[in-house]
Formats: sequence, structure tokens, C-alpha cells
Amino acid sequence: MQDALKNTGNIVIVGGGPVGAVLALLLAKQGIACTVLEARKQGAAFTESRALALSFGSRRILERLGIWPQLSPRATAINTIHVSQKGSIGRSVLHAHDYQQEALGYVLSYGALSEALDTALAEQPEVNFIFEASAETITHNTTQASVTYSHQNQSHTLDSTLLVLADGGRSLDEIAGLTRETKEYGHDALITKVRAELPHNNIAYERFTTNGPMALLPNGERDFSLVWTGRKDLIEPLLTLSDDAFLAQFHAQFGDRVGRFLSVEKRMCFPLRLSQLKTSNTQHLVVIGNAAQTMHPVAGQGFNVGLRDAGALAKQIAITPVLELGSSEMLATYQTSRKTDTRNGLLFTDFLVNIFSNDILGMPALRSTGLGLFDLLKPVKKHLVSKMSFGK
Ligand SMILES: Cc1cc2nc3c(=O)[nH]c(=O)nc-3n(C[C@H](O)[C@H](O)[C@H](O)COP(=O)(O)OP(=O)(O)OC[C@H]3O[C@@H](n4cnc5c(N)ncnc54)[C@H](O)[C@@H]3O)c2cc1C
Repeated sequence: MQDALKNTGNIVIVGGGPVGAVLALLLAKQGIACTVLEARKQGAAFTESRALALSFGSRRILERLGIWPQLSPRATAINTIHVSQKGSIGRSVLHAHDYQQEALGYVLSYGALSEALDTALAEQPEVNFIFEASAETITHNTTQASVTYSHQNQSHTLDSTLLVLADGGRSLDEIAGLTRETKEYGHDALITKVRAELPHNNIAYERFTTNGPMALLPNGERDFSLVWTGRKDLIEPLLTLSDDAFLAQFHAQFGDRVGRFLSVEKRMCFPLRLSQLKTSNTQHLVVIGNAAQTMHPVAGQGFNVGLRDAGALAKQIAITPVLELGSSEMLATYQTSRKTDTRNGLLFTDFLVNIFSNDILGMPALRSTGLGLFDLLKPVKKHLVSKMSFGK
């Protein structure tokens, strides 16, 4: 770490969601100061119950930050992943103990993670976290990037040698040098929580149907988080069904592995897209997390890729001399270090969606055989577990 970097206060992170907050904490742990601009009110995200699929590698990052002990009682371990396809007998099962891992991953609510991160950040004097600060415009030139934001009905501008955009892709698309490539699937994801007759035994289920994949993740003592994806015209009507009718339809698609489904919580739906932000000539500006890439949730990759963005950027900042922060060379080195992981995450999820959601003649039988064979191929499974756990 460069001593000269300590407390420069010149790094600005736009967006204090999980990825921006993790970056701020990683920097603080190395004595590097930053300012975080976050649009929401303090504590507003704590009640968000939607589930995040955390890889084993992401747990390691949270351990390094010292917040895993608070999170661990609120996280549900995934010890087994069961992959199947509706209408075929092929299936594949991955067990954590076969890979000498304590767990294959964890399910954690967005709210629990936000609370732990915000609490830890409040104890860091190096981090100037400004809530209810909404970034409105970002500009950049060869010497700095600037952000204009509104806070308490006033407009402010901050100049920075390194401005990190971590807004989840929610707000600021009109920035010179940034272009978004998007692939619309025409599919929606329905998310909710369901309770089943049988306990989950820490098993996560990935089930592929010709309409699209669904994931049932153990969450809490008795419940599952459900992500049910498919064509918009098939998913949208599921929102307005009565609870009983919804559970009956879900049971018909999912099968009997956990018995009958007893109850369902509030249902929410959002459109699925694969998108990646391309940057050219954006000195002093870097984009990470969901703002940089959005993936289909089928393989639980997106959030974990975002955390690895934060990890890699924190490392790069720590080894860069202060006068070179935000330079083309520094940003090119960072982008190169993230290229393979990001591309693989995007390709892997796209591949899964396409191969399992396609009903061309003969494909279901081939997929079924594929899953059966895959179950026998230990090195392939090992590679998959390593990829899902650590992005390797
Ligand atoms: C509806 C939905 C459901 C999802 N379900 C799953 C799932 O089941 N499993 C899974 O693993 N992943 C899921 N994801 C993806 C997961 O939420 C993201 O991967 C993760 O949140 C990425 O974190 P992030 O910090 O990059 O972005 P975000 O979590 O989006 O955080 C961005 C932050 O930036 C702030 N912000 C935005 N604009 C501004 C601005 N102009 N100025 C200041 N601050 C700003 C926001 O308030 C927010 O706090 C889902 C995403 C969505 C949208």
C-alpha cells in the first residue's frame, strides 16, 4: 500500500449497495479514504427480503472484512445442489463434502447484508458515507472525473481522481464513453418465498423446464426462496393467481421432491436481461458490480462477480501510486484482470438459459443424457463447483 494514498479522500464511489459498500470497506481496511454517495435513506434497505446467492468465495471476502460472524447466523448454507429437468429422468447432484468445502454457497437476504455492511462502514473514519445523496451527472476528462449530486435540496459537485460507478445500473446511463450492450430475453423472473411440507435439508434445487429455469434455494429454517423464470406472457399471470392456485401450478412444474407447498409470500416480478457496459476512453472513471454487468439469475453468478470486481479494484488501487490513480494504464490493468471472470459468468449463464430453455426436436433427450453423463464426470463437476464457488 502507498502511504501517500492514505486519507486522500479523493476516491468517490457512486452507489452504496453491496458492491460499492464492500469496496469502501476493503479500502478502509487498507487505510485508504473514500466518499460514498448513496441515494437511499439510512436503513432503507434493511427490510429488503430478496435473497442473494452467495458463493463460498464471496463468504471469504466477507470474512476478510470481519462481518461474516454477524452474517453467519442469518445465512443459510447450501450443502447440496440438485439439478434436474422437467419431463426427464436425468439429474445431477453436487455435494459440498465431495469438494472438501464446508458449503457450496449461502443464501442471504439483501437486507441482512446491507445492515452488516452499513454498521461496519459507520465505524470507519476513512469512509465519508453520505446518505440521500443522489448523483445526477458524471463527467470526466484526462485529469479527473466529476460528479454532481443533490443532497438536502442542494446541488454539490465533487472532483475525483478515481470515480467508481456502482449504482447497480439503475440511474446514470448517459455518460460519455459508456455504451451498454443488452440482450433482452423477453423473459421475466418471479421471486418470492415458499414453505414446503418437507424440510429443505440445505439442498438447493435448479430445475429446467421448456419455459425456463427455476431455482429453489433454502432460506431460513423452513423456507425456500423461489426464482421462477420464463416467458413474460407465462410469468406475469402468476402474479395475480390466488395463493392456492399459484402453489398448485408451481408444484406441477417442480414435482414432489419437497412434498406439497404450504404457503407463499408476496410475489414480485422483474424483466431478465444480459447486459454489459463497454467503456472507451474513460480515464478516472470505472464501473463495477451490477452497473457493469447484469446476468440472468439462473446460476447465481451476478452478485458474486460484482463482489470480485470490488476485490480486484481494491487491490489495484492499493498498488497504484497516487499520481497514477485513474490513469488509462491503471484502468486497463484492472479491466484486463476482470475480463475472463466477467466473460465466463456472462457466457455460462447465457449458455444455461439457451440450452435448457430450447425445445428443438431431440433437445430434451440430449439434455437429459447430458445431465446423466455430467453426473458421472467428476472433473467437469469439480470445474463447475470451483467456478460457482470462486469464479475460477
Ligand atoms: C429485483 C431484483 C432481484 C434480484 N434477485 C437476485 C437473486 O435472487 N439472487 C441474486 O444472487 N441476485 C439477484 N439480483 C441481483 C443482485 O441484487 C445484484 O447482483 C446486487 O444487488 C448487485 O449489487 P450492486 O451493489 O452492484 O447494485 P445494487 O444492489 O443495485 O446497489 C446499487 C446502489 O446504488 C444506489 N444508487 C442508484 N442510483 C444512484 C445514484 N444516482 N446516486 C447514488 N446512489 C445511487 C442504490 O440506491 C443502491 O443502493 C436481483 C436484482 C434485482 C434488481
